Amino acid sequence: MSALILCYHSYRFGQPAYADDDFIALDSDLAAIRRSGLPIVTAREIAEALVGRRPWADVDRGIAITFDDGACLDFSPFMHGSHGELRPFRDSLERHDAAATSFVIASPDCRQRLEHEALSGEPMLGEDWWQPAVASSRFEIGNHSWDHNHGVMPGFAPGADGRGSFLPIANAQAAAWEIDQAQDYIARAVGSPPALFAYPYGDVPPFVATQYLPEAASRLGLLGAFTTEGCAVAPTTDPWRIPRVVCGDHWRSPEQFAALLNSLRDNG
Ligand SMILES: [Zn+2]
Repeated sequence: MSALILCYHSYRFGQPAYADDDFIALDSDLAAIRRSGLPIVTAREIAEALVGRRPWADVDRGIAITFDDGACLDFSPFMHGSHGELRPFRDSLERHDAAATSFVIASPDCRQRLEHEALSGEPMLGEDWWQPAVASSRFEIGNHSWDHNHGVMPGFAPGADGRGSFLPIANAQAAAWEIDQAQDYIARAVGSPPALFAYPYGDVPPFVATQYLPEAASRLGLLGAFTTEGCAVAPTTDPWRIPRVVCGDHWRSPEQFAALLNSLRDNG
């Protein structure tokens, strides 16, 4: 009895081979899933099963697709200064009739700093695609925090004492800055608050997973939170620590992906 949640990053582009290019990997993986006959589900459906809003049978042996960090190439084509026109993940979703959850960074200031410091100044972290993505019905927008507690930001988040990891988000003041503030911003942009949260860096501060999110869930409209722990989801998984496997990290080839599918089929 298990399900699998995959995580891809649309800033891993323009490389010749599967291991380093998430666009090659996603298309190959979706084709493999369709050949396997295993069902493609959504991260929200898995979270709903974990909190008892739907039977586990709805998602058992299912595979969900998620994208992290909110580069526009999740959904929109992009004319890149040195790579030319790049096609989005969405093309593969349409080709294989799948849907995905994009976990986006809310703070416009953080996204602009990341464009300059990590993306060679390419304007790939805008938010104008969020609403059209939701309207396309192939995408759900999730919360990937206010500013990722990223080291590109000056100073520390209120209540936190470090950056470059999510673990310093260890009290209510810091959690509200990173999570509540992003819920509000994304809700204004897409019309309703996200139902799902993904921990930046995959780091799970115990205070956030054990205390803050369970207590704030109904106020914030959140159903579950996702890690990058690298294993499958079980019916007994804590909805505030839902594991995912990351492309390029937990698997790097079609053969390794086939092994993941086989373990899901065998455990199902
Ligand atoms: Zn991230």
